[in-house]
Order: sequence, then C-alpha cells, then structure tokens
Amino acid sequence: MPRKRTYRQITRGLRFRLTAVYALFFVFLLAGVAAVFQVRLASVLDVQERNLVDQQWAALKGGYLRIEKNAHAFWYYDQDDEDESRILFNIKRVYFIADRNGNLIHEGEAGDDAVSTEYESIGVDPAAEIRARVREALATNPPKTFYTERRDKQGAHFLIRSGIVFDELHQNPATASMSAPYYVAIGISLAPFEAISRQFTLIYASVIPVALILGLLLGWFMAGRALEPVLEVAQAAQRISGSNLSLRIPTRKAGDELDYLILTFNRMIERLEASFQQMKQFSADVSHELRTPITAIRGQLEVALFTAKTNEQYRDAIVDALQDIDRLSQIVRALLLLSQAESGQLALQKSHIDLRLIVRDLVEQFQIPAEAEKVRLIADAPSECLASVDRVQIERMLTNLLSNAVKFTPEGGEVRVRLRSYPGSAEIVVEDTGSGIAKEYLPHIFDRFYRVPGSGPAPGPDQGLGLGLSFVAWIVKAHQGTINVDSSPGRGTRFTVRLPVEAGDQTAPELAAEPVASER
Ligand code: ADP
Repeated sequence: MPRKRTYRQITRGLRFRLTAVYALFFVFLLAGVAAVFQVRLASVLDVQERNLVDQQWAALKGGYLRIEKNAHAFWYYDQDDEDESRILFNIKRVYFIADRNGNLIHEGEAGDDAVSTEYESIGVDPAAEIRARVREALATNPPKTFYTERRDKQGAHFLIRSGIVFDELHQNPATASMSAPYYVAIGISLAPFEAISRQFTLIYASVIPVALILGLLLGWFMAGRALEPVLEVAQAAQRISGSNLSLRIPTRKAGDELDYLILTFNRMIERLEASFQQMKQFSADVSHELRTPITAIRGQLEVALFTAKTNEQYRDAIVDALQDIDRLSQIVRALLLLSQAESGQLALQKSHIDLRLIVRDLVEQFQIPAEAEKVRLIADAPSECLASVDRVQIERMLTNLLSNAVKFTPEGGEVRVRLRSYPGSAEIVVEDTGSGIAKEYLPHIFDRFYRVPGSGPAPGPDQGLGLGLSFVAWIVKAHQGTINVDSSPGRGTRFTVRLPVEAGDQTAPELAAEPVASER
C-alpha cells in the first residue's frame, strides 16, 4: 500500500531527525565537557609544575648550594642520607651557575664548569641575556626570579626557574656589602605532566565514540517507541472513511499529549459524523418534500390528460398543478435561503431600531388573518426597546412565530406578543392558547421539515413547510440570542426569545424605563 508507506516515511523521517538532534546534542555535550576538563587539568598541572620547581629552588637556596668567594660552587649534603641524595640528584639534573657577566663558574675545587649535561643539551642562556636578567633581578628586593619553558635537542620540554644566589660573604652582615651575585638556573622535565595530559585525552577519545554509539542506539530506540503510537493513530485514521465514520481511535489511557491528540481527533470525527448524518437526513427530507408535489402534479396532469373532457376540467387540473408548482418553488426558495443563512453567506444588516415598532407593525399586519381565524391578537409592548438588530430578519422571525401561533390556535383563542427590556437584553414572548406541543416532539420542532405528527391542516397547499422554526432558530443564533419554548398540549405554547442589547444600544435608558401606555 503506497499510502501506508508515506506515513511510515514521515515517522521514519521524524525518528531520524529526533535521533540526529539527540546525537548532535550528545556530541556537543561530550566535546564541551572534554574541553572544560582539559583546561582545568592543564591549570592544575601548571600549578604542580611550578610547585615542584619552586621546592627545588627553595632547597637549593636553603643551603644545598654554596658559592665561595673564589667563585667556586659547592653542594653541601649528607651523601649517606638517601633522601638528601635524591633531592640533590633531582636538582643537579638540570642546572647551571654563571657569574653576573654570564660566564659559567667552576664547581668544586676541581674546577669543572657548573652546568649539567641536560642543560647543555637545552643550551646555556647567552651571556647578554644573563647580564640583562641579573640587572633586572637586582632592581627589586628580594631579587626577582624568572620562569621559562625550554626544549632540549630531542624536543623534550623543561620548565626553568632562574634567579640570583649570593656568595657566602652575603651571610655575614659585616661582609655582605662585598658579596657578589651569581645567576643560577634549575629546571624540571615536563614529560611526566605531559604524559598525564596525553593519557587523559587518549581515554576520553576512546570513550567518546563508544558513548556516542550507545547514545545513538538509545536515541533511535526511544524515538521509535515514542513515535509508534503516532503510526497507530495514523493507521486508525486511515481506516475511518465516509462509510464508517462511527469508528473511533482507542485512547491509550496514558493521559499524555498523544491521548489528547486522539481525543481531539475523535471529537472531530464525532462532529463530522453528526454533520454527515444531518446532511444525509437533509437530502432525504428534501427529496421527500419535493417528490410529494411533483407526484401530485404528475397525477393531476395525467388525470386531466386521460379523463378531462371539457375546457373547465382542463383548467381545474392546470390550476391545481400550478398551486403545487408554487409550493415547490416556495420550498426551493426557502431551502436556498436557509442554506445561505447556515453557511454564513447571509450577513446580518444590523441597524439601531426600536423593537416596539416592529412588534406593533407585525401585530397590525396579522390582525386580519387572526380575525379570520377568530383569534384575539394582543401586543404588549409598553416601553421603548432600542436594539441593534437586522430589521428584516427580526420581522421574518416574528412573522414565523405569529403565523404558527395563529395557525395552531383554535377559534376563540388568544395570541399575545410581549416585549420587555432588561439591562443587557430584550425579551420577546409569543404565547398562544392553542393546541400546544407534546413533550416528546418539542426537541425536534426546530429541525428542518419537521412537523408535529397530526398537527395543522391536512397535507395540501396550506400545509406548512416545516422550515419556519429552522429560520427562527438561525435568526436568534445569528443575533447571539437564545430561544426557549414552553408548551402544554391543549393549553398553549410560549416561545421566549432573548436578544442581547449592548449598553450603547440603549441611547435613552431613562426613557426606556418610563412606562408608556400600551398600544392595542
Ligand atoms: P410549519 O411550517 O409546519 O409551521 P415550523 O418549523 O414553523 O413549520 O413548525 C414546526 C412544527 O412545530 C409545526 O408543524 C407545528 O407542529 C409545531 N408548532 C410550531 N409552532 C406551534 C405553536 N405555536 N403551537 C403548536 N404547535 C406549533
């Protein structure tokens, strides 16, 4: 099924993207952590390196090195003491001693140059640089020391600390002024520290790919699990079509976003099903309503064709057929209007009017038909009631309610139209003392083509279309109002319409509150 594959592809795409985002985040996180660790480790190692070279410098100055006044350097330590020997061994691995002019001095009585082989490999500082540094160091008290990083011939790294050491005359205050400064440099190998850093990088570099692969697998699996119900929903939605709109997608009872989506979807299908049903019912009703007059016309014409002999008989048949055609076009016109209204194509033309005038006019218009039916028609609209409404539609609404009331009220009965103004609303009540509507039929009277069984005139040209109250309901709804109906069979019916009235509509509220003589 090609369609099914499309849904799969969508979820697959989503799954892939989710995993990719997850992986990207993971890589950035790991790289960020690595960078922070690396920087932190470098600074810790830096401090350690300095501490080590400082310790050696302190030991050297503390007494292991003495420079005699004849410019010979001597190392003083207990050769039998293992610890002292080791300290001295470490100090003497990388060192050299020069006088203030940059010339290497001698070591011990034998007179060898005071420089270690390792320092020779690094390269003894040039004399000019030593002279400059001695000058710079002596400018401060205590004399300044220098840290430099150097490489030997093999490229190995060293941290060098250099500074001033005075000869033995300096020890005695009496001879201190005659003492001479010497330039001493010692160093430590940075190889062990670099090894730690390298090791860390190596471990991290081998852990990252493993973590990444695991993360990716986990992400792929999780995204797949999270999207699985989406696929199910899509498949269930696919099974729902016009013919089986009663199908619902079962919720997973997880109470999560997906359940909410399913619920919303189900509600949408429910509404769709209801309007689908309504449409089906409507087209069934329409065809039924149209068929009746068409069958009647056909019958009348056939009878005329086969049985009529005189012109008079032909005339009667044509008059009957025309009456039915009238009814047919009446139905079509009403339906067209109603469908325009319900699909929102019929916009309200609101204007600021006094509802009392509309009530009064219509009651006047209905006086003649009411008198013909021997029904008393009373208007009870005592005060001005200003509202912003569509005059034509409100008149249509009242016409429908009044014609029903008059039609369903027997001789001697009474129909009353009451208008009341309340803060924020206007109320129009049309009540009659007519046949009433049984409770079981009440919920249907606003449906299209619905006529209470057994009510009104027998089927024929006078029979109502069953569309009047559908119009009334639409007009009230379009005005954001409400309509209620109370009825008791044999005693009468009361329709109560409430229309909202905005504060601005009641331009003269004090006038509206004033009682005005009722018109009859
Ligand atoms: P109709 O064109 O048949 O009057 P409506 O939609 O106006 O159609 O009314 C639907 C049905 O509601 C009517 O057929 C009638 O049975 C019932 N009805 C409406 N108004 C009244 C009333 N005032 N008294 C009794 N029955 C009424």
